[in-house]
Amino acid sequence: MDMNDKKRRQSMIIYIIIAIAILFALNQGANVYQQQQIQTVSYSDFLTMVDNDKVDTVELNTSSNTIKFTEKGSSGVVYETTEWPNDDTLVQRLQDHGANFSAKIPDQSNDFWQLMLLYYGIPLIVMILLGWWLNRRMRKQMGDDGPSMDFSGGFGFGNGGLGKSNAKIVGEKETGVTFKDVAGQDEAKESLQEIANFLDNPKRYSDIGARCPRGALLVGPPGTGKTLLAKAVAGEAKVPFFSISGSEFVEMFVGRGAAKVRDLFKQANEKAPCIVFIDEIDTIGKRRDTSINSNDEREQTLNQLLTEMDGFDNNKGIVVLGATNRPDTLDPALTRPGRFDRRIPVELPDLAGREAILKIHAAKVKMQPPIDLGVIARATPGASGADLANIINEAALRAVRMGRNRVTQDDIEESVEVVIAGEKRKSTVLSEHEKQVVAYHETGHAIVAASQKGSAPVSKITIVPRTSGALGYTMQVDENEHFLETREDMQNQIAVLCGGRAAEELIFHQVTNGASNDIEKATKIARAMVTQYGMTDKFGMVQLGQVRNRYLGGGEELTCSEGTARDIDEEVQRIVEQGHEEALSTLKKYRFKLHEISRYLQKKETITGEEFMKIFTRDDGFGPAPTAQGAADGSQGGDQA
Ligand code: ADP
Ligand code: MG
Ligand code: ZN
Repeated sequence: MDMNDKKRRQSMIIYIIIAIAILFALNQGANVYQQQQIQTVSYSDFLTMVDNDKVDTVELNTSSNTIKFTEKGSSGVVYETTEWPNDDTLVQRLQDHGANFSAKIPDQSNDFWQLMLLYYGIPLIVMILLGWWLNRRMRKQMGDDGPSMDFSGGFGFGNGGLGKSNAKIVGEKETGVTFKDVAGQDEAKESLQEIANFLDNPKRYSDIGARCPRGALLVGPPGTGKTLLAKAVAGEAKVPFFSISGSEFVEMFVGRGAAKVRDLFKQANEKAPCIVFIDEIDTIGKRRDTSINSNDEREQTLNQLLTEMDGFDNNKGIVVLGATNRPDTLDPALTRPGRFDRRIPVELPDLAGREAILKIHAAKVKMQPPIDLGVIARATPGASGADLANIINEAALRAVRMGRNRVTQDDIEESVEVVIAGEKRKSTVLSEHEKQVVAYHETGHAIVAASQKGSAPVSKITIVPRTSGALGYTMQVDENEHFLETREDMQNQIAVLCGGRAAEELIFHQVTNGASNDIEKATKIARAMVTQYGMTDKFGMVQLGQVRNRYLGGGEELTCSEGTARDIDEEVQRIVEQGHEEALSTLKKYRFKLHEISRYLQKKETITGEEFMKIFTRDDGFGPAPTAQGAADGSQGGDQA
């Protein structure tokens, strides 16, 4: 049952109790009146009073044979008595003593209705009036447009109805977040700075006649700090922050979403200048025409949002910020000028950005120097701000687990692996043979990588199983970040990915399921080379596939004919096979190094890039020629150029 329903029942009960009390009081009042005014006396007393000339007026009720009379000289008191049956002397006696007497034939029916009116009618009217008043008051409380008596449904919109006391429309007076708390999003911050300035002093803009954007859309993958940025704008401008999530609109019943939008903007209007933040705006802002199972409720909500955005007085300083990671699905009406006309990309952080983000979060925990966050940033390409915040937190948790009160570099490095590959799994015990296979597999990756020119140096090889299911992995950390990748780079990556399987084949003459993840990645790269990057001679610069929601890592959709699709598959196979061959030939060439390093790895379980390179580049005639290997000094991240 819903809160409002309950409340309503409670007041119903109260109002019935009040009505009963009033009825009771009226009854009592009538009785008291009668008791006070009418004094019952015996018939003989009456006769005595008549004889003593004390009786003034006498009234006989012929139906009940009761006599009511008043005393001479005393006003107000009415006496009552019952007539003695067939007292023939009474009339004569009354006449003799100068009383003023009359008889009354009571109108029975009239009396009955009078009683009914007194005892039931008036309370009933009071009850109806009271009920009407209560009902009206309650409806006012609930908001103006709730369907009048639709209170039985038990709907659960948990925001205290449609009224003022909205719990979920979070209005924060001060977010306490500023741009200082957001790292590595300099372009986004720059765009938002103007909005912050506007909110800080709307008058300056209106004076010159400038129209500030009503809305801006923060677009980017999850965890990149969109919510954080929106809060930071409010914090910078020191204005209230109203936040609501798109999904909250949709889960509600018909009509509630629109009402909630109206309410949100009403509140914002009262508190302007302020920020209205609509998270996950794609949930309500989906294109209206395309979806087959169109959702009336969502459309209504969207329409209301559009209306409100057009309606509010922009000079007051309300800016609506929306966040989404599916900009492609948004309704064009939302993004037209005057609404969310600014699109602010919030991308995954680059190397410098990652380091800055790590610094911000590292400042919140106690650290044991020396700490090199640059190393961590280099090891985490593709990590979002949220991932990085999580890495620091995991490191702190690990430090506590280890009984230390400061976080060390080791903790952070370990937690990078936890975030990338999962927790170390203590319970998985590999047999010696399995360990051997994994060691060869990982060394195979590492040797192929190390023998390539320009590939990221190997920084770590481990065969400790992880909870994610990985039995080992080889970590490659690039010194710099690359934004352009050549066809050769990609082919090299594929060859490295094939190195694990190739080593198994070469040494054990059998294959295992350990390469499934490698296969997945290699295929993905090869497919992208064919369908998106135009890197094959066969198809040239033709787009054959379209990426579905870019920010959520969605797959791609082929945009070609079926015949071409088959050709694409062949081409992908060819590219991967080429990498496989290259890996095989590399490993054949360095077969002895493969044996040596694998054995070493099997014994030590985890080795560093330096240890690996030391063995691999040792000048014994089995490794690469020193001149061909730039990183002959073996130091991790030595200049490979
Ligand atoms: P989004 O809304 O884009 O999914 P959030 O803003 O909710 O991401 O970010 C989640 C958390 O990740 C933040 O609370 C913050 O701790 C951290 N974070 C993300 N991006 C950054 C950044 N650029 N600078 C600092 N912290 C960040
Ligand atoms: Mg968010
Ligand atoms: Zn592998």
